[in-house]
Amino acid sequence: MVFDTVIIGAGLTGLRQALVLYADNRENVLIIDYEEKMGGFYSDNGILEKKEDRKIVAQAENLPYAFWGKSTAIDIETDENVNVLTVQTEIGSREVKASQIIITTGTLEKPRGANWIPGSRPASEMTPSLALSFIERGYIPGMRPLIIIDNDISQIVADRLKDHPDCQVTKEYAKDVEILDIEGDPRVTGVRVLGKNDGKERKVSCDSFIYSHGKMPNTAFLRMSDIGLDDLGFIRTNAYGETTLPGIYAYGDCAVQVR
Ligand SMILES: Cc1cc2nc3c(=O)[nH]c(=O)nc-3n(C[C@H](O)[C@H](O)[C@H](O)COP(=O)(O)OP(=O)(O)OC[C@H]3O[C@@H](n4cnc5c(N)ncnc54)[C@H](O)[C@@H]3O)c2cc1C
Repeated sequence: MVFDTVIIGAGLTGLRQALVLYADNRENVLIIDYEEKMGGFYSDNGILEKKEDRKIVAQAENLPYAFWGKSTAIDIETDENVNVLTVQTEIGSREVKASQIIITTGTLEKPRGANWIPGSRPASEMTPSLALSFIERGYIPGMRPLIIIDNDISQIVADRLKDHPDCQVTKEYAKDVEILDIEGDPRVTGVRVLGKNDGKERKVSCDSFIYSHGKMPNTAFLRMSDIGLDDLGFIRTNAYGETTLPGIYAYGDCAVQVR
C-alpha cells in the first residue's frame, strides 16, 4: 500500500499534524495508532477534559483520511528514497510505503523498574495510568493503596479514590520522600521510604503501590532503524521536526530538538 503521508500516533500532536496536512490540501494520508480510538494519552485515561483538545479529536475524526486503529508501527526502513513502514494489525503484518512519515508516538510513564527502585516484584504494583484504567472499568486498585503523588495523573487517581467506601488511601508526595524498597510477595505489603526533609526512614503499610516518575519515549520500535535517537530514546530533530532521515519527521512528546 502506498500513501503520501503516514502519521504514526493519533494523540493530540499527531491529530494536529493531520489537521495541518488537510489545511494544506494533502491527500492520501494514513493515521495509525495501537489504540482503537483517536486521542492518545489523555483520551486513553478518560481525562481529555480541555474543550479545545476534544475539538481537535472531533475534527480529526471527520477528516477524509484513513485511520487504522489497533495497529502498531514496528519498523521503519528507507529503501531507494521511499520509506517503508511495517505495521502490525489485527489481521497480521502489513507493509506501507510513504513519501513522508510523521512520528508522534508520545511518551509512557516511567515505572518503578525503569527508575531502579529495588525490592520484590509484587502483583499489586502499578502506574497511575493503569490504576486509572481499573477505576474507569469500575474496579479499585487495592483496599489500602499507597499513591505517590508526582504528576497530574497520580493526583487524579487519588481524587477519584478519596471518597470510595472500600478504599483507604495513603498519599505521599514525591517531593517529600525517596522510595527505598518495595516489600511483599505475591502482593505489596509495604513500602520503605526516606523522608527528604527529616532524613528518617519509615515503612508505609499498604496492599498496593501506585507510582511512576518521569516519562519514557514511545520509540522502542525505532531502535533497529537509522533514525537518530538521544541517550534516553527521544527522537533527535531540528527546529522543523526533521529527523536524521529524509522524509521522516517527529513532533510532540517523543521528540527532542537538538539540531
Ligand atoms: C504521566 C504523564 C503525565 C502528563 N502530564 C501532563 C500535564 O500535566 N500537562 C500536559 O500538558 N501534558 C501532560 N502530559 C503529556 C500529554 O499527555 C501529551 O503532551 C499530550 O497527550 C500530547 O502528546 P502526544 O500526542 O505527543 O503523545 P500521546 O498523547 O502520548 O499520543 C501518542 C499516541 O501514539 C500511539 N503510539 C505510540 N507508539 C505507537 C506505535 N508504535 N504504533 C502506533 N501507535 C503508537 C499511542 O497509542 C498514542 O495514542 C503527560 C504525559 C504523561 C505520560
